[in-house]
Amino acid sequence: MYHFPISYVEPVFRPPSEAKSFILPLTNGCSWNKCTFCEMYTQEQKKFRARKDQEVLDDIKKTAQAIPNVKRVFLADGDAMVLPTRRLIQVLQWLKEYFPLLERVSSYCLPRNIAKKTVEELAELKALGLDILYVGLESGDDTVLNRVSKGETHESSVSALRKIRESGLRSSVMILNGLGGQKYSKQHALNSAKAVNEAQPDYVSTLVVSFPTGEDRFRREFNDYQPMDQHQLFVELRTFLGALELENSTFRSDHASNYLPLKGQLGADKARLLSELDFAIESPDKAVLRQEWQRGL
Ligand code: SF4
Repeated sequence: MYHFPISYVEPVFRPPSEAKSFILPLTNGCSWNKCTFCEMYTQEQKKFRARKDQEVLDDIKKTAQAIPNVKRVFLADGDAMVLPTRRLIQVLQWLKEYFPLLERVSSYCLPRNIAKKTVEELAELKALGLDILYVGLESGDDTVLNRVSKGETHESSVSALRKIRESGLRSSVMILNGLGGQKYSKQHALNSAKAVNEAQPDYVSTLVVSFPTGEDRFRREFNDYQPMDQHQLFVELRTFLGALELENSTFRSDHASNYLPLKGQLGADKARLLSELDFAIESPDKAVLRQEWQRGL
């Protein structure tokens, strides 16, 4: 485990696959910060602001002195891609300059960030080392997106993902299992699969929605939300997975919030993943599931 010589404003989040990356904050918090299921940046100290170029450069220099062999960099916090392309270009140039072994740079990304950039601009960022964008699609269903104040639609999300693909960047899409509750479960599953099919991202993952600090904020907009039990979550995941038509995407539901860790390549492994899920639906007592205490929420 590296210790990067930076004073982070906690808490800091990153995707599980960026565990070994140098986390470089370009912004504090998330410029949108309204999704009612998300408490990542709701604390006072995480109020949104773009960091100054000089602060970012100082962090790069300090880290390069302490750990010159950094290979991966994750641009934090919630949406570093909100910065103008010109500033992102500058940061990527510094990273190349100070970390000669740099292999890839990644970031979380809101579809709205991409709407403001052209395919050519994204391709330029790609040429300078940006490689993968993690997009929290959450749902492809407009009713669900609206009920959770995502500020995006099926169309805006798919169009951003297509643009990312067209520019040569890779994308990793996250869907929240259970986000629509019992009432919207089926349309959430089917429209999410439709959005993912339209976008053909490189990675798709599912997380189970959870409310570690309570449901009050979420229920203010979604007062008829009916939580789902394990069986219902599996059936929703089965509907989603069954409707996926992907040419070459890695699928994962191995985040600690999931009861059943699944992993495979789609389309090749679709039948196997579905049969593992069917087994868990039919025989939950025999399937290898995470117990409640093993689930990290
Ligand atoms: S856009 Fe992402 S980080 Fe921002 S509030 Fe929504 S889920 Fe949270």
